[in-house]
Amino acid sequence: MIRIALLGSTGSIGRSALQVVSRHPDRLKVVALTANRRSAELEAQVSIFEPDTAVLSDPTVALPQSTSQTRWRSGREALIEVAARDDVDVVLNACVGAAGLGPTLAALRSGHRVALANKESLVVGGPLVLNAAHAGGGEIIPIDSEHSAILQCLEGSQIEDVQRIILTASGGPFRGRTAQDLCDVSAAQALKHPTWDMGAKITIDSATLANKALEVIEAHYLYGLEYDQIGAVIHPQSIIHSFVELVDGSVLAQLGFPTMEIPILYALVYPERVADSALRSYDPVQSPPLTFEDIDHLAFPMFALGVDAGRRSGCTPLVYNAANEVAVQAFLEDRISFPEIADVVAEAMDRTGTSDLRDMDDVIAVDTAAREVAVDVTVRLGEARMGTNS
Ligand code: NAD
Ligand code: MG
Repeated sequence: MIRIALLGSTGSIGRSALQVVSRHPDRLKVVALTANRRSAELEAQVSIFEPDTAVLSDPTVALPQSTSQTRWRSGREALIEVAARDDVDVVLNACVGAAGLGPTLAALRSGHRVALANKESLVVGGPLVLNAAHAGGGEIIPIDSEHSAILQCLEGSQIEDVQRIILTASGGPFRGRTAQDLCDVSAAQALKHPTWDMGAKITIDSATLANKALEVIEAHYLYGLEYDQIGAVIHPQSIIHSFVELVDGSVLAQLGFPTMEIPILYALVYPERVADSALRSYDPVQSPPLTFEDIDHLAFPMFALGVDAGRRSGCTPLVYNAANEVAVQAFLEDRISFPEIADVVAEAMDRTGTSDLRDMDDVIAVDTAAREVAVDVTVRLGEARMGTNS
């Protein structure tokens, strides 16, 4: 039996993971579930899956009056302790944003396998994450579909055999629009993803292509590849999840319908394969043709900006991520426009220093500074907009 601590169980990935777990009761068991604020939903999950522990990480949210055997806990410390407890086999980190870094570090230091959906862990604290894995003996198995595809393609090859990897991107809801077209798009339009059903933050990141930049940085740390070896291509059908080009001219790819349940199951049972009749295989004859396009860098500047942040290394990827989180929230609340997300992030990258990150204190200090700059820029842009409208 594989014992799982599922962090972020009320989110899109968390709910998909529970679907997978419910189909494999003889192999998979959740022993802990965590959410940030959604207590009623977590309570419903607890009554079905009966974990021994449930955590609401936001300490301001009241714990439910539980009658079950489950022990309810509150606050960030409890979340970190769940990630570090020694009686689990896999910690599935499906929290959203930079808040996922602490649990990832704790789990790796405890020697656990981390089934990692929270790509921000690697973007925000890549070197710290690698050190924690090295020190504690933990390992990361990616859940992000592109990185799962790469892992699957690499089976039987050495990383030295890899010439280049190419991540695929759906292009999001605004594929084909010009920079001019994007000035007036709304959050509701940006939240309508053509192929994937995901949480709000990653859906906006897919619309700006920031998500693909975060994934380039994620791939850099996961596979130890140089930025010149990591490319991205638009593939609107989201069937091929990535390509791996080997030194001998072979190019490998992994295909599947766009459901996160396939990479979730793979990360939980890796390196085994487990049959699952709920997961349909891709049928090349019955499906529309697969097409590919270049990224339009003028319309989607967040991609190049993010790759540049990765290349600059040090704290710059963290600054990119923190400013993006602030800007996405401001866009969702209609305080800034879609193209202004990139303006906020570019200015935060210019105005925040380029120090190295030695420890969690550095992470917190730079993250706070970057968010302050980003908030400052969003307020200025919001005021400018009010001025134009009045
Ligand atoms: P979501 O917003 O649907 O869910 C986020 C989960 O994290 C919720 O359970 C929430 O309670 C919890 N959470 C929120 N803030 C938190 C905090 N401060 N501390 C601890 N927990 C917190 O997000 P999602 O779409 O499921 O994405 C989760 C992660 O997986 C993200 O890093 C995302 O980039 C990545 N990812 C998602 C998909 C997808 O299909 N949704 C695909 C690939 C990667
Ligand atoms: Mg992805």
